[in-house]
Amino acid sequence: MTISPYRIRGETGEWEVVVGLEVHAQVVSRSKLFSGAATTFGAEPNAQVSLVDAAMPGMLPVPNRECIRQAVRTGLALDAQINKWSRFDRKNYFYADLPQGYQISQLYHPLVGEGTIEISLDDKDPEGSTKTVGIERIHVEQDAGKLMHDQHPTMSYVDLNRSGVALMEIVSRPDMRSPAEAGAYLRKLRAILRYVGSCDGNMEEGSMRADVNVSVRRPGEPFGTRTETKNVNSVRFVMAVVEQEARRQVDLIEDGGRVVQETRLYDPDRNETRSMRSKEDAHDYRYFPDPDLLPLELDDAFVANCRASLPELPDAKRHRYETTLGLTPYLAGVLTAEVETARWFEALLAATAVKQGKDQAAVARQTANWLTGELFGALNRLGRNLEDAPVSPEQSAELLALVADGTISGSIAKQVFEKMLESGDAAGAIVEREGLRQTSDAGAIDAAVAKVLADNADKVVQYKAGKEALFGFFVGQTMKAMQGKANPQVVNEALRKTLG
Ligand code: ADP
Ligand code: MG
Repeated sequence: MTISPYRIRGETGEWEVVVGLEVHAQVVSRSKLFSGAATTFGAEPNAQVSLVDAAMPGMLPVPNRECIRQAVRTGLALDAQINKWSRFDRKNYFYADLPQGYQISQLYHPLVGEGTIEISLDDKDPEGSTKTVGIERIHVEQDAGKLMHDQHPTMSYVDLNRSGVALMEIVSRPDMRSPAEAGAYLRKLRAILRYVGSCDGNMEEGSMRADVNVSVRRPGEPFGTRTETKNVNSVRFVMAVVEQEARRQVDLIEDGGRVVQETRLYDPDRNETRSMRSKEDAHDYRYFPDPDLLPLELDDAFVANCRASLPELPDAKRHRYETTLGLTPYLAGVLTAEVETARWFEALLAATAVKQGKDQAAVARQTANWLTGELFGALNRLGRNLEDAPVSPEQSAELLALVADGTISGSIAKQVFEKMLESGDAAGAIVEREGLRQTSDAGAIDAAVAKVLADNADKVVQYKAGKEALFGFFVGQTMKAMQGKANPQVVNEALRKTLG
């Protein structure tokens, strides 16, 4: 399947948008990039600040091995080149949340070089519409502190808890061509980081934020001048920025204006970008190698160890779900999109296979359908996530086993599941307590069939005259008379026998 290219219609013809993202991802590690201070989110202001983070005179940075390890693991997960020799640089500027007067970053020799991310543009057909987006580099750098201007009308406060926390800056190539592609890229990158465990991907808490570079051009022409919209903190906002900014640039150019390279801000309330400052170039920052730090040199064993620690990643997992478990591309895509979903599914699949004494492949479809249908439906209604699902994979496997061995019917299973959600009780206990076992008791079923046929004598006549579709009606009425507990197969047989 091909997706038609995204075009902006202007007064003078069609335009193409070009997008490149710089994503800042906070590294999961207990302590900061160059100090031993803690990184926990939400601590009291300035409770997690070492003398290094506060830039006291004479303090020296010491690289945190775990932060480097996480960045290397991330690079490997993006099929990127790992630079065994890299170096830290000082990026000099003044800001009240930056006590050092410079940020330690990596300009000339980043830790990670070129890599790729596969994005898919169609959920229903995740394999039919993929595109590869290039990664230019990943470098490691310090985060700044935070300024708070809103507590008191005439005062600003500085919180240095975030000062010195490790960030990975993941820079894409200008390879995206629509809001949807930018959204898909960010979602996929976030998913990979969360699989790897190198960033929690929590955009609301600011653990991941994107600088969105946008330019427009006539299809096929060279790239136009770009603007950079800073610190965009949700997938939806990134897509909105691409759309709004492309529109603004097209209107500007068509009115005879010129796009200037600048840094902009996104205002979600007004859904527009605004100019913040003209863009500075690398040379404005007077980058130079940080004399307090030796170059980083990685040995083969360290990199091999990082590689060995990687889990199965989303693309590989999706492929395995399709080939060895026989799931549809759609289901495989849904189940692997988030690491929690995949984990939950695999726990459920393992428990289900054990309970039913079957291979995982033999129960994969039943399990996948139940999870994406019943459980997701319930979570949606309850406004909950899988992480705080009211049932466990083991409890769910018990319910599925009761359906598989014929103890309860599929429709009764829905009722039992509702009761599990309400009470937290086990499926088997609910079935016994409420007498929901499916019955194959021929006597009771025959009696119900006889009553249904007697009550609907007119329909029996129509049926016998050839209106065969009424058979389903009789089945439904009999099931209803049996409160859903009759074995549907026995009901079918009894009806056929009686109706002749
Ligand atoms: P800087 O370091 O000044 O921010 P880079 O060359 O590193 O500039 O590019 C930053 C980001 O801008 C990258 O993600 C890149 O893909 C993107 N980019 C570069 N040129 C363009 C362009 N013409 N249109 C859109 N994005 C672009
Ligand atoms: Mg930049």
